[in-house]
Amino acid sequence: MPKYIFVAGGVMSSIGKGVATASIGKILEGKGFKVTAVKNDPYINVDAGTMNPIEHGEVFVTDDGTECDQDIGNYERFLDEDLGSVNYATTGRVYLSVIERERNLEYNGRCVEVVPDIPNEVIRRIKAAGKRSRADFVLIEIGGTVGEYQNMLFLEAARMLRLQNPKDVLFILVGYLPIPEMVGEMKTKPTQNAVKMLNGAGIQPDIILGRSSMPLDEPRKRKISIFCNVDQRDVISAPDAKSIYEVPLNFENENLSSRILTKFRLRPRRNNLKEWEKLVDTIHNASKPVKIGIVGKYFESGKFTLMDSYISVIEAIKHAAWYYQRKPEITWLSAESYEENPKNLSELKDYDGIIIPGGFGNRGVEGKIKAIEYLRTNKIPFFGLCLGMQLATIEFARHVCGFKLATSREFDPKTEQPVIDVMNEQKNLIKEKKFGGTMRLGAYNCELIPGTRAYEAYGKKSLISERHRHRYELNNDYRQKLEECGLIASGINPEKNLVEIVELKDHPFFVATQFHPEFKSRPLRPHPLFREFVHSAIGNH
Ligand code: GLN
Repeated sequence: MPKYIFVAGGVMSSIGKGVATASIGKILEGKGFKVTAVKNDPYINVDAGTMNPIEHGEVFVTDDGTECDQDIGNYERFLDEDLGSVNYATTGRVYLSVIERERNLEYNGRCVEVVPDIPNEVIRRIKAAGKRSRADFVLIEIGGTVGEYQNMLFLEAARMLRLQNPKDVLFILVGYLPIPEMVGEMKTKPTQNAVKMLNGAGIQPDIILGRSSMPLDEPRKRKISIFCNVDQRDVISAPDAKSIYEVPLNFENENLSSRILTKFRLRPRRNNLKEWEKLVDTIHNASKPVKIGIVGKYFESGKFTLMDSYISVIEAIKHAAWYYQRKPEITWLSAESYEENPKNLSELKDYDGIIIPGGFGNRGVEGKIKAIEYLRTNKIPFFGLCLGMQLATIEFARHVCGFKLATSREFDPKTEQPVIDVMNEQKNLIKEKKFGGTMRLGAYNCELIPGTRAYEAYGKKSLISERHRHRYELNNDYRQKLEECGLIASGINPEKNLVEIVELKDHPFFVATQFHPEFKSRPLRPHPLFREFVHSAIGNH
């Protein structure tokens, strides 16, 4: 039976619970244990697929097609493991499973109740995740903040699991310690209060991670220890880090893995974070920049610029840059500004390479098409992802093949030149408004054509698998014409004969994929296409 470690957050959201959870996983992996992680999200949404990326951040996609929270991406990147639907549960998903079971008479006619049936379903899923990965440790991150109404049933599940298996369950609270400017001192009270609220839910934390802008000093640790009823050695300092990949090493400096293992009466099986340490070294020391621009639209929120919507794209760029010992410099470029003022396009020249990532709906599309034309004709490295590939195809159809009205059915349902069309099986789903979880999702095979850039990048592999999330695709009625004009279809889905990668010759790098390669990039194993893109960008520089 695996050991279970729950991680909950106190004081406020966005203090890095996901990274903390992933980092705890990493240090336990470094001690020779198999670790998996689960995220419990308080939303009623059955999955993250229906949430606006500006509000909720990126929708991450697993091999089995689960549309989930970006934290699953962090777990995959830190643990280097492919996760699946059992690793992600929202309140909506949990209730839906219980209600479906009730409708199938699987509760044998008894009264089905919020407690214990909902927490029991949460526990069932957590155990399934442990089984799936044959894990020694299952980490369970509870979304939201302690004390709010929305995540109470997840805390209840944690309490019940601990009651059933007192020796196999540990509880970690990630608290925040503010340093108010007018006080000039790190304050522990909000974290003390968070622990009191957790106590109210019947849970005493075993370990407290103190998130703050600075490391916790001895008086602060002592205070938390006394007031929150934990051993001072279990108050772990978790200051802001320059890079998230540093966090596991910071935890190890505070002996976190050894504290966890001691509590479970386990001994380390090995001691190895060497590769990871080398990576962090590179992150600190890489000084020569590679400048990448991302032309997107999901990053403006009032007066704030948010990067969460494209987190996997950003991480994939970083992994590839570090592979070449470069310092990634990533800039947001607004697609709409190219529509308002095409003169702005000349700023694209200031970058070593440009990425056009995924997206939905009309807004910003024409600006992105203008940008692609500029990148194609000025021979600036370009990498298109999902929508990026669809727009690259439209741009090529319009300006090289002469299909002046070319567009996607998504932007103009009545178009005469649907170079990008809706997939057949999608038509009825859209009509019936069945939007949730019905896109082309998850891993699909792709055959690479020898001699192409893609084939070379993947090390001459003929069959690859990549993750998808889209409803529209390159229309095969236009394929021959596009190819005659010089667009190379370098990756094809063999089952449905769909174009998955397009590229151009006589260009330093012009490659676009219908799938999302960013979901499979790992810090120590950058994705081959990102690696090649960054390589060309460095050459361009
Ligand atoms: N909106 C496009 C589609 O649904 C592209 C989706 C995406 O970029 N993820 O096909």
